[in-house]
Formats: sequence, structure tokens, C-alpha cells
Amino acid sequence: MKVCRTIEEIIAFSHGERDAGRTLGLAPTMGALHDGHLSLVRKSLADTDVTVVSIFVNPAQFAPGEDLAAYPRDLGSDSRALEDLGAHCLFLPTPDIMYPPSYATYVVQEELTSVLCGASRPTHFRGVLTVVLKLFNLVRPHRAYFGQKDYQQSVVIRRMVRDLNLPVDLVVLPIVREEDGLAMSSRNRYLSAEERKDARCLSAALREAGALVRNGERSPAAIVRAMTRAIESVPSARIDYLAVVHPDTLRDLDEIDGPAVLAGAVYIGATRLIDNVVIQGD
Ligand code: AMP
Repeated sequence: MKVCRTIEEIIAFSHGERDAGRTLGLAPTMGALHDGHLSLVRKSLADTDVTVVSIFVNPAQFAPGEDLAAYPRDLGSDSRALEDLGAHCLFLPTPDIMYPPSYATYVVQEELTSVLCGASRPTHFRGVLTVVLKLFNLVRPHRAYFGQKDYQQSVVIRRMVRDLNLPVDLVVLPIVREEDGLAMSSRNRYLSAEERKDARCLSAALREAGALVRNGERSPAAIVRAMTRAIESVPSARIDYLAVVHPDTLRDLDEIDGPAVLAGAVYIGATRLIDNVVIQGD
């Protein structure tokens, strides 16, 4: 596996592969890799000739006071896992090469970024879109792989690709979960043993809400009430948001009469976890 640490190295590698006629897949990550990340890498390996994985804990998507400094970093085990899978290239930029001292340009999206996670993290998607656009420009992938775990992120990136006419196909893959339903996340490493048990409440509430919809419940308010009750019964849990939204506009639905996304963010102790379920509706 080729490891690129500079702008020049990643451009030389990926443009060389592209110019040789090979298709490139990119899986952008922040590292501390788990099976969710690896599912993206596997799919890229199956779909494209050359798979590039980036690991970059992107300072621009963390607000002051968030967990940038504490974010788990485990490069040794990450690169072993990628090597074992057969990834072709690991791009490991540092903040100073992505955002040199004179750096001044950010991607701001007018819609979609002020709701759900954007309501409590108002600068988050500006950082995400900026780094993703930079990665697209550096790697020039034919396909880029993202997880449904970050549902809003996938919608926001899809809109950027459309609005800016970016020549890349997005592939969004299902959420990979632990056996008890908890969505895999690098942040799960923050949880104590007790919190880890409590953390099941979010996926359980979403699962039960999905069952309510399947059994005929059409009122988003009733669904949010049921999820709220379930999560509030767990003492270490504090709700950031629970919502039933349209899959494309991310607007709150008045009634479930078609596809919908049940989405939530919940603090377990100090750890903020997100999860969602996509409902096909009828
Ligand atoms: P992160 O390292 O958290 O920025 O995530 C990198 C990519 O992996 C994003 O596209 C995430 O949506 C995706 N991802 C994270 N967790 C999961 C999961 N449990 N299942 C599927 N994809 C995931």
C-alpha cells in the first residue's frame, strides 16, 4: 500500500493511476477504523481498480470545545487493517498541509446544513464540505464512498456534487452495527462499560420507531414522543435531537406518507452519538 503524506505525492499517485486508465475509488475517513469504514473500503475495492483511503481528523469540522484533541487516533492498527484488505493508497495529510497559514476558502451550503446536526454544530458541515471538496480535487476519484451512518452528511455532499457539477459518483452504504444494534463509530471508544450498555438506547428507540411506522403509525410527533420516552428512561442519556424528516430536503414531516428518515443525536455522558433509520413508507 502506497502511503502519501504530501499534496505532491497524492496528486502524483492518483493522477498517474487515472491517466493510466484505471478507475479510482475514494473513502474519506477520520481514522480509528472499524467495520463501518472497512465496508466502504471493501465496496470500493470491488467496484474500482484503485482504492484510496484518506485518514484526516479535519480540524475545520470541529468547533472550539468539541473533541478534536481527544478524537481517537490509531494509525498503526488502521494501516494494518487497510493493508490486509488490499487498499492501494493511504493518504495521510496533516492540518498544516490541508490548511496552510494563508488558508482562506471554505464551502458553505445555504440549505440543508442548519437542521439536525447542523443546528447544534453550525460550522460542522462547512468544514466537512471544504475537506471533501479538497480531497475530491486532490484524488479526482471516479467514485467516493460514504456511510448512511452520517445521513445528513451524505445529503449535504450529494447537493454539493450536484450544485458544483463535480465529476464524481457518490456511493452511500448501509450502517454497520454492533451485535446489539449500536451503530459502529470511532466515538464509541469514549464510552465506559456502563455507558456502552446505555448507548444501545438510541438504536433501540429508532428500531422501535421503525416498527411503529410499519404497524401504521403516521404521526411524526407520536413517533418522536415514543423515542423521547425510551431515551429519557436511560439516566446517562441526553437528547440533542430526534426527528422525522424528508430523505432529500431534511425538513420535518407533518405526516409519514412516503419515504422518511428517523434521525437522532444523543449524548451518552459526554459522548455525542448519532444514528438513523430510513423508512420506505407507502
Ligand atoms: P468518520 O471517520 O466518522 O468521518 O467516517 C468516515 C466514513 O465512514 C463516513 O462516510 C461515515 O458515514 C462512514 N461510517 C462511519 N461509521 C459507519 C458505520 N457504522 N457504518 C457505515 N459507514 C460508517
